[in-house]
Parts: sequence; structure tokens; C-alpha cells
Amino acid sequence: MESSLANQLATTEAAIDGAHQTTKNKKMNNGLQLYNTLTRKKEVFEPLSAPHVGMYVCGPTVYSDVHLGNCRTFISFDLIFRYLKYSGYKVRYVRNITDAGHLEGDRDEGDDKFAKRAKLEQLEPMEIVQKYTIGFHDVLRMFNTLPPSIEPTATGHITEQIEMIKMILDKGFAYEVNGSVYFDVEKYSETYNYTVLTNRNMEDMLANTRALGGQDEKRGRLDFALWIKAKPETLMKWPSPWGSGFPGWHIECSAMSAKYLGEAFDIHGGGMDLAATHHTNEIAQSEACSQVQPAKYWMHTNMLTVNGTRMSKSAGNGFLPGQLFTGDHPLLKKGFSPMTVKFFMLQAHYRSTLDFSNEALDASEKGFKRLMAAVALVDKLQASEGESDFDIQAIKDRCVAAMNDDFNSPVVIAELFEATRIINTVYDGKGKLAAVDLELLKSIMQDFVFDIFGLKDEDTSNAELNSVLELVIDIRKAAKENKDYATSDKIRIGLQSMGVQLKDSKEGTTWSKM
Ligand SMILES: [Zn+2]
Repeated sequence: MESSLANQLATTEAAIDGAHQTTKNKKMNNGLQLYNTLTRKKEVFEPLSAPHVGMYVCGPTVYSDVHLGNCRTFISFDLIFRYLKYSGYKVRYVRNITDAGHLEGDRDEGDDKFAKRAKLEQLEPMEIVQKYTIGFHDVLRMFNTLPPSIEPTATGHITEQIEMIKMILDKGFAYEVNGSVYFDVEKYSETYNYTVLTNRNMEDMLANTRALGGQDEKRGRLDFALWIKAKPETLMKWPSPWGSGFPGWHIECSAMSAKYLGEAFDIHGGGMDLAATHHTNEIAQSEACSQVQPAKYWMHTNMLTVNGTRMSKSAGNGFLPGQLFTGDHPLLKKGFSPMTVKFFMLQAHYRSTLDFSNEALDASEKGFKRLMAAVALVDKLQASEGESDFDIQAIKDRCVAAMNDDFNSPVVIAELFEATRIINTVYDGKGKLAAVDLELLKSIMQDFVFDIFGLKDEDTSNAELNSVLELVIDIRKAAKENKDYATSDKIRIGLQSMGVQLKDSKEGTTWSKM
């Protein structure tokens, strides 16, 4: 495995940085606490080799459009990534793309999700992967999240996964049956705690798992596939010591996190629905392979609800990001911009459920506009002689304290609204700020609104957006010329819901903000 190489690299980098270490540590924020699913409590964050931080987040399975719940997870870890960097850490953020091995129902049976979709859309599986990877990146770009440091794919790491499976077999924690390899949970449980992450009772888990039938190759009910033998019709398959096949879903994250972050690293994250099976199995694979707990801190984001019910496709309330932006869903009364949606998400703590409703989104839209207006206004304020009427340092201290308290973004937003109130008061001439406090107030708005929250001004007066609008208007013109009125109407109505009014005339189409 090349994990030792990753460790060596980290050590070398640390040695090079050695001379600057003292200043770095001073800059680094040492008051950070985060909730660790593994210990079920908030802990002081102490990275294995500060100032370096290794963070692995389970990425999307790219066989369909990215769900809003996934977006919340990636926006939450973007917040964490940004704040760690703001606090002076050097973060290597790895977020994978699952483009093979994820079977229907997340179990070791049924059709491969990619192959199934490929048959449906009459495409090559890698066409599906390409299409939805681009779509995923587009959506995250709209949400203004930073790209991870490394974005490895499962298909790009088949060799590493085979090596890891071989090692688990060598250690006696897996067995081969007829070209497939299974992880032996019972054997593993003799030495390690299989349910260490969720603290569930093994007997209960067994009771809730389907009994094995005569056809089953698995020895134990909780065993899971590391390698799955290809059927004649399987499209995505690779040669292996056990014959032609493809990896199980869980092994990719263990193999890729070890490769890029080492056998032991700092943070492993994902949606809370991954903890019970995927992350539990990742821990088992890594420990079986290297006798080391892979991550020191496990972090999980909570789910989304709509008008109080869990968001899901089957419930009919699972709208996609694009539908939320255009308002093209029966539950939505209009579209909401990506930044409104992101601001709305940041108004809840990442470990709380977040409930979507038109009313709540409306309120966020107003709040976000008020905040952006204050950001624009703060540059126009004049400093006054003498003492300030407001304690700006206290606002900054409370923002930092909130972020240090397990990334409590809603508390920071409340403080930013307090800052907004002060900005408006000073602008109206009803209060004054000394030069030093005015500068501090500007830096609070810049740091927390833009650098840490990753929000951006969506005002259509900026040049970049102008050219995007011109392009959309061109597409609409071509659609009208082709008598594709469905598309041209969709564009007009979609823009309208975002507050952009199109006006057609003999000279062409112009737009204006409503
Ligand atoms: Zn994963």
C-alpha cells in the first residue's frame, strides 16, 4: 500500500514547515471542539500532526442527479473545510466519486446502479458517470463550495482495492466463495468491536437482518461483499485474483482514504445515513487490514425534511437542486436562488434536521438580501473621532466562539445580523464607529460571510452574470426559431422566478431585474 508514502510526504512537509511552526501554531485556533460520533460527545480537536489535517468525506454515487440532502452534506463539510483553513490548518480534503460497485438497495445483491441506469438511458455506464459527475460539479459550483484537494474515483483505484482485499484475506478476516470475497464479521468481532461507531447491539442487528437462504454464499448474516463476481451481462468488471468482477461498495473509501491520508487520519465525514452500514464496514475493513482505527473523529450531517416529513423520492417531496432554483415542483410556490438555499441551510446546525417550507425559504431570501445590503453598505461608512458606540470585538469573539463550538453557523448568523443592525445605525447617523472598529467590522463581514460561509453576492449587476444571461437569452432565441416553445417558455418563466424579466422587441431581447 502506498499509505506509508502518504505518511512520509506529510512528515517531509511538516519538516520543511518546521521553521515556521511556532508562528503557525500561534495563528492556529486551538479552541475548536467538534462532536465525534465515535465517542458520542463533543471533543477538543487535536489533529494527529498539526498543522496538517486529513479529512475524508464520502462523495456522491454518480448514477443520477445529486440530491438536496447530499448537497447539504457537502455544503456542511465545505463550511468545516473553510473554517479549518481560516483557523490556520493545512487541510488535505479528499472527497471521492463512487462510479462503480454501488448496488441497488445498498446491499450486495441486485443490479449495479450504473448498469441499471445505463440500460434505462441506453448509454455506456461511463457515459452515465460522466454525465452525472459534471452535473454534480455544476450544482456544487452554484453553491460556491470549494473543490476538494483530491477527488479520487472508485474505477481509478481498482488496484488499491484488490490489494486491500488481499491483505484482509491474508489476515483471516475474509473468505472467498466462487469468485466473490466476503468480509467475515463474526471473526472480526472476536477481536474488534464491529458496532463501535453506532453503539448498536449485535443481537438486535442480527434480528433485523434477513436470514441467509440456501442460495447464499455468505457465512454470516452481517457479512458483506469485498469483491463481487461478474455475471455474463455485467458491464463494468475487472480481472482479479478471484476472477473477473467488481469491488463491493465499502472497500473503495477504505482504500482511497488510506492511500491519500494514511492508515490513520483526522476527520471522516458523511451523511448520517452512512454511519450504520457504510462507515461501520469501512472501520472494519481498515482495522482488519492495518489494526488501526482509520479516523480519529467521525462527523455526520443530519437529514432534510419538507413541511415536517422526511425528504425522499418515494414521498414525492424530494425536489432536486435545479427544481428548487427554478421553482419547478408542485410543493414550491417559486424558485429560490442557490445562495438563498445555501444561506437557509447555514441557518441550521449541521447536526440538526433542516425543514424546507416556502415560508422558511422566503424568510431566508429576505435575510440574505438584508445581509448583502449591509456588506455593500459597510464600505461606505465613515469612521468617527473618539470612542465607538458599539463593541465590535465582542461580536467577532462570539462568532469565533460559535464556530469553535462544533461549527455553530446559526449562532454566527445571528451575530452577523447584529453587525447588520450596527451598520445600518451608523449609516443613518444614529451611532458612530472609531476607525479601528470600522476596519474590524469590515473584516468580520469579509471573513464570515465570504471566506467561511462561502456566500457570494448574486446581484445581477456583476459582469460574469451578465454574460451568463446573454448566453441563456441566445439559447432561448434558438429554441424559438426551432419552434421549441416549451424550452423558450421554461427559460422565461425560470428567469422570472429568479427575479429577471425578459422583454422581447424587434431589436431583440433585453432583460431587467424585477
Ligand atoms: Zn465512503
